[in-house]
Order: sequence, then structure tokens, then C-alpha cells
Amino acid sequence: MAITKMELTPSNKTQTNGLQVAASAAKISDYFGCNVFGPETMRLLLPKDTYAKVQEAIQQGTRFDMEVANAVASAMKTWAISKGATHYCHWFQPLTGVTAEKHDSFIDPTSDGNVLEVFSGKQLVQAEPDASSFPSGGLRATFEARGYTAWDPTSPAFIMETAGGATLCIPTIFVSYNGESLDTKTPLLRSNEALNKAALAVLKYFKTDAAKVFSTLGAEQEYFLIDQEYYRRRPDLILAERTLFGAASPKGQQLEDHYFGSIKDRIFAFMTDAEKELYKLGVPLKTRHNEVAPNQFECAPVFEEANVAVDHNQLVMDLLKRVAARHGLACLLYEKPFAGINGSGKHNNWSLGTDTGKNLLSPGDTPHDNLQFLTFLVSIIKAVHDHSKLLRASIASSGNDHRLGANEAPPAIMSVFLGAQLTTVLDDLEKGVTTKGTEPEWMSFGIDKIPAILRDNTDRNRTSPFAFTGNKFEFRAVGSSFNNAFPVMVLNSIVAEQLIQTKKDIDERLKSKKQLKDAVIDVLRKYYKESKTVCFEGNNYSEEWVKEAKRRGLPNIKTTPEALEGLVEKESVEMFERLGVLSKAETHSRHHIKLEKYVKDIDIEAKLVIDMLRTMYLPAAIEYQGQLANSVRLLRELNPKDPAGKTELELLSDLTKQIDSASRAVESLRKAHVAAEFIDDVEEKAKAYCHKVKPFFDVIRAAVDVLEGLVPDKLWPVPKYREMLFLI
Ligand code: ADP
Ligand code: MG
Repeated sequence: MAITKMELTPSNKTQTNGLQVAASAAKISDYFGCNVFGPETMRLLLPKDTYAKVQEAIQQGTRFDMEVANAVASAMKTWAISKGATHYCHWFQPLTGVTAEKHDSFIDPTSDGNVLEVFSGKQLVQAEPDASSFPSGGLRATFEARGYTAWDPTSPAFIMETAGGATLCIPTIFVSYNGESLDTKTPLLRSNEALNKAALAVLKYFKTDAAKVFSTLGAEQEYFLIDQEYYRRRPDLILAERTLFGAASPKGQQLEDHYFGSIKDRIFAFMTDAEKELYKLGVPLKTRHNEVAPNQFECAPVFEEANVAVDHNQLVMDLLKRVAARHGLACLLYEKPFAGINGSGKHNNWSLGTDTGKNLLSPGDTPHDNLQFLTFLVSIIKAVHDHSKLLRASIASSGNDHRLGANEAPPAIMSVFLGAQLTTVLDDLEKGVTTKGTEPEWMSFGIDKIPAILRDNTDRNRTSPFAFTGNKFEFRAVGSSFNNAFPVMVLNSIVAEQLIQTKKDIDERLKSKKQLKDAVIDVLRKYYKESKTVCFEGNNYSEEWVKEAKRRGLPNIKTTPEALEGLVEKESVEMFERLGVLSKAETHSRHHIKLEKYVKDIDIEAKLVIDMLRTMYLPAAIEYQGQLANSVRLLRELNPKDPAGKTELELLSDLTKQIDSASRAVESLRKAHVAAEFIDDVEEKAKAYCHKVKPFFDVIRAAVDVLEGLVPDKLWPVPKYREMLFLI
């Protein structure tokens, strides 16, 4: 589409949001968390003993009685109304992958025909939204559609301000009448509990004073921004969040000039606006920068306890989109909106923290601390090794299939990066030799059997799907549009499972060995030996790694229907059940829902491909075909003896070839699509969509992308890559 024809919406279309933004103050600390019903606000508004009870419930997961709930509800209502809220909602995360909310106003009619604002403990603690339209994966039949939301006091309530008003949002879990989880949060909370128990048991060897262990999460969020006007003209972006067609722009990311480049004014205005909204909600955003691909960006918060971090990441995604719209921009969170350039991920920085403020993945100063560090580190490596298929399943989606293994994204092979120093440490540990550090910055573990390690392990490998980065792991294979609850739940679970085993193995050895140190080292040596095939230090993006991984017997599962099998393998199902994270039925429901989601995604794309080809691309190409044919005819009429028009004829032939190729392929796609639609078994259906339907997208796209280079710019029906990715 010709640029001149675009009614571009430059930054002057940026709307002011019309809110009384407390955030006009310059200092972030002045308004940070002003829309959060956090401990500070509670302490101010609640009677002392009620406050203590609530804090205890939050810290220790104890239940609190209705009296306390009533007091909290009353304080929450007063606070929310003072912030302009007229409604409240239970904010939950059903298995759709996005958040859900059903608003109720505070009003209650009085006998004299007026209304009063009311909000009781009962309304705070539990609600029963009509849940019939949420996916349950067979957990709940539609005719008995009861679903309950229940307050999760560990994630604070907040006020969501939108142009139309303000709403009190109460984070909740979502369960069926029988208590089965219908959401992503319940299993996450359960996995945290399992991890807490297992990690504390191991920590006991090391004489800890910690009473609680939890997972921590810092989710870097990548996204694209394009002008909203372009977005509106791309049905594929609107309905599938990815471009199903589009020839590469002559300039893509090859100049490497976007990464960390100076941020354009319009983007900067958007970023600061979004940040303000998120600061008000207590999201501790820290970092912002341009990413590798054109018009690709990233933001990252300071890490928090995983439960809260998951909610905060949902808010980040929600607000990036809302605020982008205010700035005349569209924010794309999809994993691969544009072919041929980088996709977007959500780098999940994950670690284990204690209530005493310790990071269990931080190497310590004493031999004792380091033995503890190695115990957790090696247990995690073993967990990833033993459950790599499940970990792969945790990040499977139709969007991520395009990203894993494509342009600068970690491949579908799950491996662990440790860095040169740690690898040496573990290799020597395995061999039973002591490495003596020579450089001053080497820090000795001081235990004869454990060699030295670099204190500040800044060694980085940006190609690894699961990289140790000094004091945490970075799970980089997670897709940008994901709800983090699921991958974090899986990570927590496999580590909890392993830590239980680690304790058993150490106990076993302690029967014969006197020293804890010897018992632990013996176990770690065994684990590392058994699982080091999953460790890889080289370039994960290379072809050699694919071959090497195959030689090592590591799975390389490229597509979602197959990857999801990892979720329902016997070991996975039993593990979740043992840990109390997911019942068998709950695990199978997730598998079912994820397969269904995959089918629906590809189904939407198939319909879009057919529709866009027939109603947009073919008409444009045929119009030009007509023009060319006309030219040839006219030229022949003009001079029948020596007809000109060689160029026109060649163009016509090229054009016709592509038109025919696309039309033939769309016919095949249509047939494959109809056949897939009629398959009953969801697993078979997903495979058919993946391997029989989807391949035609590429054939059709190839023809259309060639047409894009032939058809006059002014006839082209949609914005091109070179416009969407560069004009902002
Ligand atoms: P990079 O892009 O170099 O990986 P960033 O600064 O963008 O680094 O992001 C690093 C993320 O890791 C931040 O969100 C940070 O808060 C988080 N992080 C740091 N320590 C921990 C930890 N102990 N647990 C979880 N996340 C952590
Ligand atoms: Mg980063």
C-alpha cells in the first residue's frame, strides 16, 4: 500500500487519558503503588489485630474468619471508593490464558428507593461467576456450570483505572464446585507450597533459619509496536496477531541498529505513560529498551515472589495494550508477528528465595553456603534433565512454534547453560579432583572436594533456553504472550519433585557416611553424571547443536501437538498428583484445553488465509493482470505487424503463474481444512491441523509474497513490512 495513501496517525493523535493521574508528580516513589491495597494501606485502615491476622494469613497461608473478612472488605470498599471506584470484580486467570473479570457495582437498593454502597466479607471472599463459557477440559459440564472465585490474599487487590472509570480488582483463584482448579493460579500456588516443603527439608541439612522458601520471578517482556492505522488494515494482525502474509522488507534487522538504539519520541511517550500506570499498580518496572527487531521493545521489572510477579506480568501485558491504543499504536504480544525477523519472548528469570531474604541460587561466601548452593543448582539441572519433555510442554503454543528455533530464539531442545566456571566446578566435582583458582577473583569454596568458582559469574549465553546467570536461571523459551503461571508451575513442580529425591538420596548416604559434606557430594556427583547431557555451553542456534543434541538423545520437539504429550506422560501425571499440584483429571484437562486452543488458533489462521487470499490479494493481482492484458492488447492493435509488449507479457506470465499457484494451494488448503474439522479426537485433530492444514499456509504465502513484489504499490491491499516496521 502506498505510503502516500496512508492516513497516518502520528503522535499528534496521542490522547490524554482524561484521568486524574496522581502520577503527574515527577518522583516515582511519590505515587508508586497508590492504587494497591497493600500492607501499608491495610495497616492504616484496619484495626491492629485484624491487620495482624491478615498478615499472618498472607505469610502462613492460614484461613481467616468471616469477622476478619468483613473488616477487610469494609476497609477495601472505603479505600476503593475514595479512589473513584464504583464497581468491584474478582480478577482471575481461567484456562484461556488471559485474565477475566466480571464487574459488580457496590450499590444495594434501600427500602426508600435509594442505594447504598455495600461490600461484605462474603463478597470479598467468594463469588460464583457463570462459568459455562470458560474452558474446563472436561472438568465441568456446561449444564453444571458452577465455578467459584475465591480471594487470594497473597496477591494484593488493586484499582484499575480506565478512561471510563475505576474498578476495584480482587485477585482470586477459580475452582469448580468440586474444588478442581479451572485456572492457572491455583496450581501455581500449590506448586509453591510443594516447593516450599521440599526445599525447606533440604535446607535443614544446612542449618537454616528460614521458615519459608518460594520461587521468585522477574519476567522480561518483549513486544512490538506498530501504528494503529496499519494494524487496522491487517485482518491477520487483528484476528491472529501475526502477519500471515508479507514480503520481507529490504531493510530488516540486518544493520543491528535497533537494539538498544535511542528511543523515538513517540515510543518514549508511550513507554513513560505505560510505566506510570504500572507504577500506580505497584509493578516495579525497572528496565526499558529497544530490542533487536525493528519496532520491537522490552521492559523488565525487578523480580518478586512468583505469584505476585505472575499477576504483575498479566497487568503489564494488559496495560501495554491499553496505553498503546491511547497513543494511536497497536502493541503486539504475539510470539512471531513478522516472519524473518526476531520473535518475542518472555524471559523468565527464576530463582528460589527465603523469608530471611536469601537467594538459594546465589553462591555464598562460606564452604557451607556453597555446598548448599551446589545442592540446589545440581538438583535443578537433574530436574530439567529428567523432565525436559514436560518443560518443553510448558511453553508449547502455536505462536511459540514459529519462534523456537527461528531467528534468534532458543530452539525446541531443552538444555542448560552454566558458564565456563561452573562447568569446570561440576566437571571436577564429578572427577573428584580439586581445581585451584589462580586469579585473585577466584573464590575458593574451601571444601577440599569442591573447587573454586568465580564469584561474579557474568558469563552469558543468550542462545540457551535455560541459562544460569550468576544467581538465577533465565528460562528464555517462554513465549511473549504466555501467562507465566503455567511454565513457573511446571518449573516449581519438577524442582520440588527432585528436591524430595535429593533429600532421600542424602539421607540414604548419611546412614553409612559420617559427614554431611561427603554424603552431599556423593549425591551431587551421581546427579551430575546422570544429567550432564542436558548441559550445553555452545551456540544453541547452530545446526551442529541440533545434531549434537540428537546424538546425546535429547528431544527436539518442534510442534505443539507432539510437545504437549510431555504433559500427560505417566511420570508427569504421577508427579503432579504426588505433589498435590494437579490431580490426574486436572492435568488431562490442561492437555485437552491446550490442544483445543492449538486447533482453534490454526483454524482461525486457515480461515484468514483463505479469506484474505480470495478477497484481498487475488482481486488486487487480477486487477493488475487485467491492466497488463489490456496493455498487451492495445499495443498489438497499435502495431499489428511488429507488436511491442514483451515486458508486459513477461510480467503477465509471472503474475499469472503466482495467481494460479496460490489458487491451487488455497483449494488444497480448503479440502485439508474441511477434513481436519471433521476429526473428533482432539489429539488427532491437532496433528491434522499442524501437519496437513498448516503447511499450505507457507505455499500460499510464498506466492502472495512474490505477488507483493509484482503488483503496483498503489493496488496492494494491505500495509507492507517496510511500512509497518519502520514508520512510527
Ligand atoms: P538481561 O536482559 O541482561 O537478562 P534484565 O535486567 O533485562 O537482564 O533482566 C533481569 C531480570 O532478572 C530482572 O527482572 C531482575 O529483577 C531479574 N532477577 C534478578 N535476580 C533475580 C532472582 N533472584 N530471581 C528472579 N529474578 C531475578
Ligand atoms: Mg533483557
